[in-house]
Parts: sequence; structure tokens; C-alpha cells
Amino acid sequence: MLRPGLLTKRLSTSTTSLAARRTSQAALSNFPRASLLLSSIQNPRFLSSAANSFANIKSQLNDPTLITTAGFIDNEFITTSNSGKHFPVYDPANGTEIARFPDMGIEETDRAIQAAKQAFSSWSKTTAKERSTILRNWYNLIIENEQDLAKIITWENGKPLADALGEVRYGASFFEWFAEEAKRLYGEVIPSPNRQQRMLAIRQPIGVVGIITPWNFPNAMITRKLGAALAVGCTVVAKPASETPLSAVALYELGRRAGVPKGVIGLVTTHHNTKAIGKHICESQDVSGISFTGSTAVGKLLLKQSADTVKKVSLELGGNAAFIVFEDADIDKAVDAAVLAKFRSSGQTCICVNRFYVHSSIKDVFGERLREKVEKFRVGSGMEANTTHGPLINKASVEKVRSHVHDALNHGAKLLTGGKESENTHGYFYPPTVLTDMNNNMRIATEETFGPVAGIFSFETEDEVLELANNTRFGLSGYFFSKDVSRCWRVAENLQVGMVGVNTGAISSEVAPFGGVKESGIGREGARQGLDEYTQYKYINMAI
Ligand code: NAP
Repeated sequence: MLRPGLLTKRLSTSTTSLAARRTSQAALSNFPRASLLLSSIQNPRFLSSAANSFANIKSQLNDPTLITTAGFIDNEFITTSNSGKHFPVYDPANGTEIARFPDMGIEETDRAIQAAKQAFSSWSKTTAKERSTILRNWYNLIIENEQDLAKIITWENGKPLADALGEVRYGASFFEWFAEEAKRLYGEVIPSPNRQQRMLAIRQPIGVVGIITPWNFPNAMITRKLGAALAVGCTVVAKPASETPLSAVALYELGRRAGVPKGVIGLVTTHHNTKAIGKHICESQDVSGISFTGSTAVGKLLLKQSADTVKKVSLELGGNAAFIVFEDADIDKAVDAAVLAKFRSSGQTCICVNRFYVHSSIKDVFGERLREKVEKFRVGSGMEANTTHGPLINKASVEKVRSHVHDALNHGAKLLTGGKESENTHGYFYPPTVLTDMNNNMRIATEETFGPVAGIFSFETEDEVLELANNTRFGLSGYFFSKDVSRCWRVAENLQVGMVGVNTGAISSEVAPFGGVKESGIGREGARQGLDEYTQYKYINMAI
């Protein structure tokens, strides 16, 4: 099943009109179904691993000027670091180096902060309509360049090209959404309790915002934050994940073309100075807010580091999602949703299922049908046309997944499929795996696996399964399947999570508030609530 080899065939390119692409985007905008979109990728070119150098990558884009190996400070792409050091970026499908980025430090970060501070004084004064126009331009440019942006994601992240295209469209949807929401940043007129005063509350941008993003959505995790921050008038200094800076730099190039003014968006690339830069941004008196997506451990650290300057902190952290299948569920629908909610991006999304709780009366049939589906996956390079599931991001991820599987087997789990790694792979692959007879002594019961492993636990009653599902410090997303309407309300209300999928495994949307409770985070992204993270109310009392 594992096919790490890469095709060397090259297909000819052709262009598709923007209008046609927009139509297809409207029809296919539901990001979680991205893996079904393979046929809509236009003329993917396939690489041999040896040909995967930066020059080669560039030459395979319709617009090679989209990517530079650089940060972006005060409207300039900066290709060197003050230290003279660079860090490598790898293709996870074959482990080869594909680019080298400047390993920036505190000095460059400070320059970006100061440029953003200066730009804030004018950007925050622009009208909502002006900001909306720029965001809309940026959205249009992303859609025009979506094929290139998808390839860039696949090169550095590994996800299949169809999923990458889905991510590009999902990412763009935040610029479209916030371009619209910018114009609706309403304050409030408060009925005054006395005749001599009038009261109102207006909403203002908080200032310069530090943004730190992960590798699992190299494009969309940036746009989800940037869109909201820019819409309200904040300026930004962003640090992308060191595994995936190419998508960030391509987005910034399009932002420049869209007309984002000088200094408004900064990009600092680093690997070795990540900790120092993170601390510096948190402690800077010139930065008013931090928006972070990543692991809970790093989120907690950033929260602590931001305390002394009393920053507004927004955190999108790890999850440990439960997926409950009640005895009255439509099993086939539940299995289809399980495939999506567990194995999308090879299990590397924060809302991926970590624990399957299936009623004991249907556990075996659910496990069997899930096994059948999983065995049809095609694992390989994301650049191959029929790949459904790509590699993991790096060696450490493979090791973590392997250790979770071994731990479960050692504690009595039964292997339904997967679990056996090919010895002849150069990339970071782990076979999609289904385990059953799981119990609470296993690491998967409490730790986020972040990989392609479905572990099936069984339960008897609704109360029991709610207790099991909620018995975690995480609370990002949860899913359940049932045809009983009363139960649907009860369980949706009682799951301790920020997002619930009822009879669905696809919940992400730019129009809905994304975020967690407990140690899965603070704040919401997307939706109208996404603007809250970047604004503060100012109360004005006017005597008359
Ligand atoms: P991570 O290690 O926390 O890294 C995320 C980002 O934080 C990267 O840019 C990383 O930079 C940076 N970083 C690491 N240590 C830092 C420090 N001490 N100070 C400042 N920045 C630091 O997380 P990951 O392993 O890349 O991502 C996976 C995790 O993200 C999972 O737990 C997943 O659930 C979570 N996630 C959550 C959401 C959500 O919306 N809730 C979405 C996606 C992912 P370097 O790359 O340079 O190390």
C-alpha cells in the first residue's frame, strides 16, 4: 500500500480563466472535502526527488516570482539574516532539502515590530472600506494563483495536492470573509440612565499583533489570523513554522501585490531562534497582542511570557477529540465521517479525532467497515495524482505515532489494519492504522497522536461515554452520531469542547467561530467573533 516513489512524468500546463476557477471554488468551497477534489487540480507536474531543488521548484510554478527564500520587513524581502545563518526546509515525501531560509533573530524581529508600529498610525486610520478593498484584492490574487500555492503547500507540508488546493481555498475564504466583516465592525449606543449624558462604545484595533503559526496548515493558519487583524486596522509581525515558510512568503508576495502598505505586514523566518523571538514578541511593549496556533505546551509558555505586558492573547491549541457512535447511528455515515475526521492530512489536524467511542453493540461492524475504507487509501507523495494520504511532517512525528501504536498493542489493543511500516521509504510515512479493544491505560486515551491512527474504544451508556469523552484537559472539537433528536441536543450541550459535529465530520468554515475550551485555547477565529481578538472597546461618555 505504501508507495513512496515519485513519478517523473511531466504534464503540459494550460491556464484556466479566473471566472472558471471562481465557479469551481464556489461549488467546491467546503474545505474538508478537499480530498475529493483531485480531478480539479489543473495539470499537476510530478517531480523526481532528485530534481527537488529550490530552483527546480520555482521553475515548476506558473509564476516563479511567487516564492523567494526570505523574510519580509518594511515592505522588503530580506534574503539574509544578520547572523549570516540559514535553515533548511525539507520535502517530507522524500526527506530532500528544497529551500534555505534566513535564520533571523531579535534584531530583525525588532525591525519588523518597529515598522509595524509606525505603519499602525496610518493603517488604523484607514476606512473599513479601504481595508476591505485590499483584503479583497488579496483574496482574488490567491484564487488566481491557487494552483501554484497548492503545489507550494504540498512540497513543504506533504499533503496531497487536492487537499492543498482545498487549504488554499479555505485560507482565501478568510480574506473574503473579513473583507466583508471589516465593514460591519459596529460599536454600541448605550441607553443612558441619566438625562445629562450620552453613552457609546466604539471598537478600535489593539495595535501591533504578533502571529505564530504551525506547519499543518501553512497557508490557512496565516490567513485566518491576518484577515481578521488587518480588517480591523491592526498591523502584524508573523513567524511561520520553520518547516513551512514557503507558503507564508508566497502569501506575502501576493499581499504586496494586493496593495498592503509598507510596514503593515512583517514576516520573520527562523528555526534556531524561535524561542528567543517568541519571548521577544511576547515581552515587547510595542506589541499589543499575540495570536498563536500550535501545541498546548508552547501556548502556555507564550501566555506566561505575555503576562508582564498584559497582552491580549489568542490561542488555538491541541485537541483530543472524541468521536462517539451511538447504537442508533447510521453506521455508514459515521464511517464516512470517521475517515474524514480522523485521516485528513494523515491525521495531522488539531480537530482530528483522537478517540473513537463506539457502542459495544456496533463496535465490531464499525471497526470492520472502517478497516475496509482505510485499506483503500493510497499513501504516497502528495504530488502523485492518485495519492489520497501523504507523509507526516517529520521523523519525530513518525516516531510519536509509532510509539502510540506500540503502546496500545502492548496494553492489549487489537490491530485491524496498518501498523507495519515499510522499510524502503525515504520520506516520513506511517501506514494508516486502525486499532480496536482500546482502553484507558493507553497513551492514545489522553495524548494527541497527530497521525493516521484510529483507536476504537467501546461503551455502554450515554452517561458513561460523556464522562469518558470529557475526561481530558483538552476541549477543541468533538463529534457524535445518533438519530435521536433529544440525545443530539443533550450530547451537543454536554460535550466540553468549543466545536461539535453532530452527524458530520466536517466542521471548519470561515463563517463559524473556531476555537477550544480548557487547555485547547482562548479566543475564536473566523466568523464575526474572530474580530474580537484584535479589537478593544472604548467607552465614550458625552455630557450634553
Ligand atoms: P508547535 O511546536 O507549538 O509549533 C507551532 C509554532 O510555534 C511554530 O511556528 C513553532 O516554530 C513555534 N514555536 C515553537 N516553540 C516556540 C516557542 N518556545 N516560542 C515561540 N514559538 C514557538 O506545534 P506544532 O507541532 O508545529 O503543531 C502541532 C500542534 O498544533 C498540535 O498540538 C495541534 O493540535 C496544534 N494545532 C492547533 C490548531 C487550532 O486551531 N487549535 C490548528 C493547528 C494545529 P518552529 O517551527 O520554528 O519550531
